[in-house]
Amino acid sequence: MGRTSTGICISCEKELSKMTVAKHLKNCPERSRDDGNERLFLISVQSRSPEYWLYLEASADSTLKQLDHFLRDIWLECCGHMSLFIIENQTFSSDPDQSYGDKSMRVKLRDLLYKGMSFRHEYDMGSTTELKLKVVEERLGANRAAPAIELLARNSAPVIYCDECGTAVAENVCSECQYDKSGWLCEACSEAHECGEEMLLPVVNSPRVGVCGYTG
Ligand SMILES: [Zn+2]
Ligand SMILES: [Zn+2]
Ligand SMILES: [Zn+2]
Ligand SMILES: [Zn+2]
Repeated sequence: MGRTSTGICISCEKELSKMTVAKHLKNCPERSRDDGNERLFLISVQSRSPEYWLYLEASADSTLKQLDHFLRDIWLECCGHMSLFIIENQTFSSDPDQSYGDKSMRVKLRDLLYKGMSFRHEYDMGSTTELKLKVVEERLGANRAAPAIELLARNSAPVIYCDECGTAVAENVCSECQYDKSGWLCEACSEAHECGEEMLLPVVNSPRVGVCGYTG
């Protein structure tokens, strides 16, 4: 790891370093500056691996459930696992357990979020993918019924080399070997891999790459 992560602004397609993306999004010439009275949150989402990140804009009127769906669609969904948000010590669950005091995700962002706050999302309580979210900015804009949540920028797919030959780009990851932080395999080394082809998952641009049955 440790390499500089880059990503793409969805509006202008410019390549950006991770360090400059938040500043760019505030000034991007291609982004529409529609007027209105709807509160819009600019939210950064960061995985535990530094190379996977994205920025989104969500209407204050959208719900945690919509945000959960957005994250599942773009990065997480493999087999319908449970997920939750942890916001200021309160848990909002996709499958709330009242005896633990969980709340449901049918809560509007306007009732929870404010500029500068951080919160967490977890998908799958077994092989958990953890995300850290932060409200970077808030502005007023036009009401957006659909989509209530819009992708503004995301990391470019990191180039990962094969653990066996060390020279070719990995196309698959072994779901067994990834527990030991290895198992990245190029096409040629995939065929000879000892764990068998049924253990292999495709390399995809997501923090859930190689986990459970995630195929992108
Ligand atoms: Zn841009
Ligand atoms: Zn799964
Ligand atoms: Zn190889
Ligand atoms: Zn393996």
